[in-house]
Amino acid sequence: MRLSQRLAKVPPYLFVEISRKIAEKRAKGIRVISFGIGDPDLATPDNVVEKLRQSALDRPNHRYPETDGLPAFRQAVARWYQRRFGLSLDPDKEVLPLIGAKEGIGHAALCFIDPGDIALVPDPGYPVYSVGTWFAGGECHWLPLKEESGWLPDLDAITPAVAKRAKVLWINYPNNPTGAVAGPDFYKKAVEFGKRYDVAVLHDACYTEVGYEGYRPQSFLQTPGAMDIGMEFHSLSKSYNMTGWRIGMAVGNANMIKALMTVKSNLDSGVPQAIQYMAIEAMDTPDTYIAERNAIYKSRRDRVVKALQGIGLRVQAPKASLYIWARVPEGYTSAEFTKMLLEERDVVVTPGTGYGKFGEGYIRLSLTISEEDLKVGLERLASLKVPPRSQMLDKSAKS
Ligand SMILES: *Cc1c(COP(=O)(O)O)cnc(C)c1O
Repeated sequence: MRLSQRLAKVPPYLFVEISRKIAEKRAKGIRVISFGIGDPDLATPDNVVEKLRQSALDRPNHRYPETDGLPAFRQAVARWYQRRFGLSLDPDKEVLPLIGAKEGIGHAALCFIDPGDIALVPDPGYPVYSVGTWFAGGECHWLPLKEESGWLPDLDAITPAVAKRAKVLWINYPNNPTGAVAGPDFYKKAVEFGKRYDVAVLHDACYTEVGYEGYRPQSFLQTPGAMDIGMEFHSLSKSYNMTGWRIGMAVGNANMIKALMTVKSNLDSGVPQAIQYMAIEAMDTPDTYIAERNAIYKSRRDRVVKALQGIGLRVQAPKASLYIWARVPEGYTSAEFTKMLLEERDVVVTPGTGYGKFGEGYIRLSLTISEEDLKVGLERLASLKVPPRSQMLDKSAKS
């Protein structure tokens, strides 16, 4: 059997060693506390689950859905956009349901990238932007995200030669993994860049509904001109605690939406209709729900930040997103510090290098952890005296 070259391009899974250690510890009965994955522990709202129960009984929902979804779903997205961002979308031309944002982001590469084309991809970043590019035969030009630039890419640093070969620019704010946010000035630059070089600007907007202390992230599409060259990806996963149901949407430029529809209608058969009805119910839920949910995350955010600062880590409370992005102590790499936390405290965090080489020197902690685990995790962190790195290296040499 000969597998495709494209599979060889998938980078080795960075968490192999950590996953093995966690499994070993759990097999020994050790309680391992994980701040690793971003998957809401809080339940999908009751009214939304109830909608699934009712919709499951409706025979038409037992059959194939349409790729472009129920008209009622597309209209609900347009209503939600109007209410949330003050934008009017054409529900029939500018909205497409997705089997989760991840699916849409992966398939979007097939709309734009031919072999040899370039995608501009943030580093650190959500891995699907790069893997999707490679699967389509393209190359990634990495855009380093740095603390001193507020974790925004420097678009002026992209040379004209690279910009001319580029077909897409990926951006993602509020950002995973850094927790950074972007304002209208950055989005304006992205639109200008996209127009100057005829590059599609693709914004992953999965975290617009997770903001703190009244901060409400914007849509990239609110930027003048963005609809001419842009598409935005949303997810019900983080917005309404619906990771298990698999639904999201792409919205934006009608030609881009049509291209994604062409790819998808040839590869998948859409989102189960009962799940689309759940999403309609979720998007029509009053925003007080979001505010109450975010208050829970804010309380977690503040406690995690305080605990990390207490053991000497440099960290800022993010304005949005589910992630705390902290600088590891002097002398440690991300991987070494992650390993030390697991060995000394049975606490799991994600090394920044899991998101790209510019993630070196940082770790990510997710706030999607139950109150019970959070309490134990914080106690364990608080009682940690960060050992000098040399001592840790001695120890691992011996073990
Ligand atoms: C969670 C996440 C997604 C995927 O969302 P789904 O709708 O569950 O597929 C996409 N992008 C980022 C940055 C994420 O963190």
